[in-house]
Amino acid sequence: MEKIAVWVEHRQNEIRDITFEMLGKAHQLVGDGGQVIALFLGDPSQKGLLDKITPHAHRTVAYLDSNLKDFEPLRYQAAFADIFEKVDCQLILMGQTAFGMDFAPAVAARWEIPFTTDIVDVEVDGGLIAVRQMYSGKVSAKVSLKEADKMLCTVRAGAFPAEDLPTVSGEVQEITGAVEGDFSARAFVEYLEAAVGDVDITQADVIVSVGRGIKDADNIPVAQELADALGGVVACSRPVADKKWLPKERQVGTSGKTVKPKVYIALGISGAFQHQAGMKNAGTIIAVNKDPKAPIFGIAHYGIVDDLFKVVPALTEKVKELRGWGNSDK
Ligand SMILES: Cc1cc2nc3c(=O)[nH]c(=O)nc-3n(C[C@H](O)[C@H](O)[C@H](O)COP(=O)(O)OP(=O)(O)OC[C@H]3O[C@@H](n4cnc5c(N)ncnc54)[C@H](O)[C@@H]3O)c2cc1C
Repeated sequence: MEKIAVWVEHRQNEIRDITFEMLGKAHQLVGDGGQVIALFLGDPSQKGLLDKITPHAHRTVAYLDSNLKDFEPLRYQAAFADIFEKVDCQLILMGQTAFGMDFAPAVAARWEIPFTTDIVDVEVDGGLIAVRQMYSGKVSAKVSLKEADKMLCTVRAGAFPAEDLPTVSGEVQEITGAVEGDFSARAFVEYLEAAVGDVDITQADVIVSVGRGIKDADNIPVAQELADALGGVVACSRPVADKKWLPKERQVGTSGKTVKPKVYIALGISGAFQHQAGMKNAGTIIAVNKDPKAPIFGIAHYGIVDDLFKVVPALTEKVKELRGWGNSDK
């Protein structure tokens, strides 16, 4: 594969990590001599964002229009129509994000191009083969995309590293856009930051996270005590938030928060991909689970196969001892 385009995703004037993750993968796929093309749609005032992108793309196509400051699907589709034919590439990568999930299917449908969603890997083996996970990550499927001039994939956040991207000296092609049409069916109204709650788990260095294995709200203090001893916070998987054992703001995962602590301790969490997506980039992952086949062990740096109600109090005691807290002097 010689030419791959990456749609640059930005929100609130920040390039989102998924963009760098896709750029890295695109470089790996095209190899030496290939071309990575960044596709940027935005407002002229956001041109400064390109400084972060252009060092990592052989070519950047920047379509600038004052109506493209915030992601609005209909306007973005119209803008994309202006550049689609001009961008010579075999594959387009977009994020499997709220924006990408809205945008990519419309692009695929409009140009009738082969399209695979939520991929966690992609390789060239004769044709283009995308890897997707099924049944909550228990099975990986290889999907062969029908050969076409252009193909499109949406990439799961966190599937590829965002660091150590190759640096190239890329050219920038600016296009002054003026998208026209009736876009009244859907309009950007306001950007609302999700509630942080009493504890902001996205800022914590140490997270002790509980899953359904904690069994009852009354058992949360078991995890809280370990978190306190470590100077961390308690987070949770989705079932725990759904049952209201902890507030929704503590939920980690695709429909919760993405966290990147130094240490993530998963207690009684199976490690469904929706959960992993929110925590797999933690520095050190420690999992405690009764089931040795739990998917969380696939990404854990350290694993304990045992009953959390046996392991956690012992761990807490040990941490307190090491910190010189003793039994009663917390
Ligand atoms: C659209 C969508 C979005 C989603 N978003 C999210 C999300 O953001 N975050 C999220 O977490 N999930 C999300 N999910 C749900 C996800 O698919 C899983 O169902 C969920 O992550 C499972 O949570 P869990 O690991 O706590 O529970 P389970 O899968 O039930 O796992 C419980 C684990 O606890 C272990 N266990 C039980 N008792 C003990 C014990 N005494 N000691 C040790 N281990 C024990 C079991 O072996 C098991 O592995 C989403 C699902 C969908 C469809």
